[in-house]
Amino acid sequence: MTDNDLAILGGNKSITSDGRFLNPKITVDIEKAIIEQLHETISIYDSSGIFEKLETAFAKYHNKKYALLTNSGTSAIWSMYEGANLNEGDEIICPSYTFFATNTPILFTGATPVFIDCNHIGNIDVDEVEASITTRTKAIVVTHMWGYPCEMDKLRNIADKYNILLMEDCSHAHGASYKGKKCGEWGDVAAFSLQGTKIMTGGEGGILITSNRDIYEKAIFLGHYNKRCKQQIRKDSDMYKYSITGKGMKLRAHPLAARLSYEQFKFLDKMTKQKQIFAEKVIRELSECTAIDIINSEIGAQNSWYAMVMRYQGDSLFGVKRERFVEALIAEGAVEVDIPGATCPSQMLELFLAPGEVFKNYTSPLINGKFENSTSFYNSIIKYRYGLMRTIQKSSMNIYKPLKKFLKT
Ligand SMILES: *Cc1c(COP(=O)(O)O)cnc(C)c1O
Repeated sequence: MTDNDLAILGGNKSITSDGRFLNPKITVDIEKAIIEQLHETISIYDSSGIFEKLETAFAKYHNKKYALLTNSGTSAIWSMYEGANLNEGDEIICPSYTFFATNTPILFTGATPVFIDCNHIGNIDVDEVEASITTRTKAIVVTHMWGYPCEMDKLRNIADKYNILLMEDCSHAHGASYKGKKCGEWGDVAAFSLQGTKIMTGGEGGILITSNRDIYEKAIFLGHYNKRCKQQIRKDSDMYKYSITGKGMKLRAHPLAARLSYEQFKFLDKMTKQKQIFAEKVIRELSECTAIDIINSEIGAQNSWYAMVMRYQGDSLFGVKRERFVEALIAEGAVEVDIPGATCPSQMLELFLAPGEVFKNYTSPLINGKFENSTSFYNSIIKYRYGLMRTIQKSSMNIYKPLKKFLKT
């Protein structure tokens, strides 16, 4: 080895600036807005104030009629399933490779998740989706993994052909689009996380969008009792008489989280554009790097660039283990490089393998297949997160320098 200039072996770092990715970037304007919100109100019972502002703007951005803020993305996803009136005996087609919160709320409805393997970019395999539809299938849910949009035109066609609902987990895909339509716009209903690591964030929070009044009202009914139920559930609906309690959960958002999200939403498109420019640069620079295959987006997709995902081939090519490679990159100062851990294939999760002890209705394993693509995807990827203008402007943050340096060894 002639690599004694690598930082991991005691050499100098390639990246010396403190380029740590700050999310969200707390500007003076955001500080002001939060203080203002603090004095305005920190609890909203209905859909007024900052809830109304953000919900209206967010729904409009996706060409939807309604939006509903929640206290987490998981709550928004659960509300999405409640909105669709999923029940025991219903099947919902879902991705095996996703963050587990796409699928875990299904268990609270009693419906059966039908897991589908991923394709070469980590998204749900569309051909397998169609092959898995039965008379019991009520919905398809997809996740735009790491901000790479799914093939939404094909999925929309399948959903229409079989008259089932199309649902999107857009928690990685704020601002992304596919063939000219936003992620979240294609589905009958979509949910976004606004959690602290996400592109647009309130620290904790979530938001659901739909143009379907029934879905919207049932979503409200799950976790927004009294005032909001009374205001927004139609008086002739069967649910209206339960308005005081709703279905009994409280999934209401925090106004400070809503305000923080709203302030970032203003810059979402600008950020996405800037990340696109940066992504193109990184892709160009890394194209000659044989140990890395950057995952390409589908044709017609505009990524959110929540993360850039690469398949690592250096183990077979250079005998350098993925973990060691990432350690070396981090040592060089490329601190935003990471091997995803908990975002793993569903067949690795005990809750789906042995749900019965936790959810009495589910007496047998919910997942049996091998899902080889998702296993191999999970075992080979490296992700690189970047996103802020500050980071982008600092060319010293470019990871290709240490990457190249390392693989020359
Ligand atoms: C973060 C995330 C969720 C859950 O969102 P929370 O706000 O953390 O509850 C769901 N799905 C995906 C794909 C996510 O990344």
